Amino acid sequence: MEHFDFVIAGAGIVGLTTALTVLRRAPAARLAIIEKEPGPGRHASGRNSGVLHCGLYYGSDTKKAKVCATGGRIMAGFAAEHGIRLNRCGKVLVATDPAQLPAMERLLANARDGGIRATRIDNRTLLALEPAAPPEAVAAIHCPDTAVIDVKGVLAALVARLTEAGARFFFQRRVAGPGPDGAIATTAGPVAAGFLFNCAGAYADVLARAHGFAQNYALVPFKGLYWKLAPASAARIRGNIYPVPDMAMPFLGVHLTRGISGDVYVGPTAIPALGRENYGIFAGAHPKEAAIILTRLARLYLADIDHFRLLAHTELRKYAKSHFYRCARRLMPSLGIDDLVPTTKAGIRPQLVNLAQGRLEMDYILEGNARSLHVLNAISPAFTGSFAFAEMIVAASGAV
Ligand SMILES: Cc1cc2nc3c(=O)[nH]c(=O)nc-3n(C[C@H](O)[C@H](O)[C@H](O)COP(=O)(O)OP(=O)(O)OC[C@H]3O[C@@H](n4cnc5c(N)ncnc54)[C@H](O)[C@@H]3O)c2cc1C
Repeated sequence: MEHFDFVIAGAGIVGLTTALTVLRRAPAARLAIIEKEPGPGRHASGRNSGVLHCGLYYGSDTKKAKVCATGGRIMAGFAAEHGIRLNRCGKVLVATDPAQLPAMERLLANARDGGIRATRIDNRTLLALEPAAPPEAVAAIHCPDTAVIDVKGVLAALVARLTEAGARFFFQRRVAGPGPDGAIATTAGPVAAGFLFNCAGAYADVLARAHGFAQNYALVPFKGLYWKLAPASAARIRGNIYPVPDMAMPFLGVHLTRGISGDVYVGPTAIPALGRENYGIFAGAHPKEAAIILTRLARLYLADIDHFRLLAHTELRKYAKSHFYRCARRLMPSLGIDDLVPTTKAGIRPQLVNLAQGRLEMDYILEGNARSLHVLNAISPAFTGSFAFAEMIVAASGAV
């Protein structure tokens, strides 16, 4: 049987940065990264907006706040070191309804608490920064430190660094749970491991439950679909235009982002999905999993947990292009419906519901013992914060 000091389940950004952190602390350790797909970052980490968030969405008592801005700075340094493309384009946050003003004040307070650069700007400054933004915005904030990054470049550089540092990668192999004699069961046989880091993203809850953890949580996947702007409209967007989010929801709302490729994406939605990998309308959904998820969704809907009914109604309507267009036009009034070009870009947010407390979990959750640590609810901005989050994960494990 193969023997490793550390096994990491999942080669998304969380697994890869956790592996790097372990090897930095214990350079001689035998470390394996086991990934069920043929390559790294095939799920959330390779399908996101590629935005390095400045961190003003999160209250100072959250894990997200503790790692987002710091992690973003470390990732920017990593990008510079490895020649990975990064564009410090900044972001404007635009309130289009007076009802959003209290949320805007909270964002500014979060920024003050976290030492994040964020300034209230008037409409003249807003239009100077983003000429296509609403000329009569109710209020706006400028975050100069928001950036976009080449996510595939980051993942590839991490794999190269880890390989150099002696990590072993096993692709197309799934970690299944505890194996015989304290080993870890995988689809290619058991592996003896001193410690398991479960960084399995949308399947982290399943693997955690196999190890006796995550008992209070159920997963509901939300699908993020994107449209793209036709070239003439895209030319009018310089960086990122975001709405003021509903602070009770874990999603940031449909926004416009000039990605590192230069294309401008509009999205993502947060539509309840039928499976952890249900990227198409039905593609990636399996009848048994879909039935479980539909039951959970029905329960959330009937109990109206965390205003779930409103969320479901608001988001499901975004499947219709006309409704999606109306949302996007609030941020870019000159947008025509034909300027929105369909794309296949889609990602899944593996959102956990806290069953005991009847609410959507907003923060990251770490559970574990002396043999394993399980990273749960690694939703946005886990890409941005990953390098600092990995430090938090490794420290919490007490294993290195
Ligand atoms: C639409 C969308 C937009 C987003 N935009 C942003 C953004 O702009 N900025 C930002 O910071 N964050 C963003 N996020 C969030 C960010 O992408 C995720 O939080 C982050 O990528 C999570 O990384 P991860 O490693 O936990 O998960 P993943 O990238 O999903 O990696 C988990 C890996 O585990 C593997 N796996 C699963 N089960 C097993 C198993 N049993 N054995 C072995 N391998 C297994 C999977 O195949 C996968 O490769 C976005 C997310 C979505 C969905």
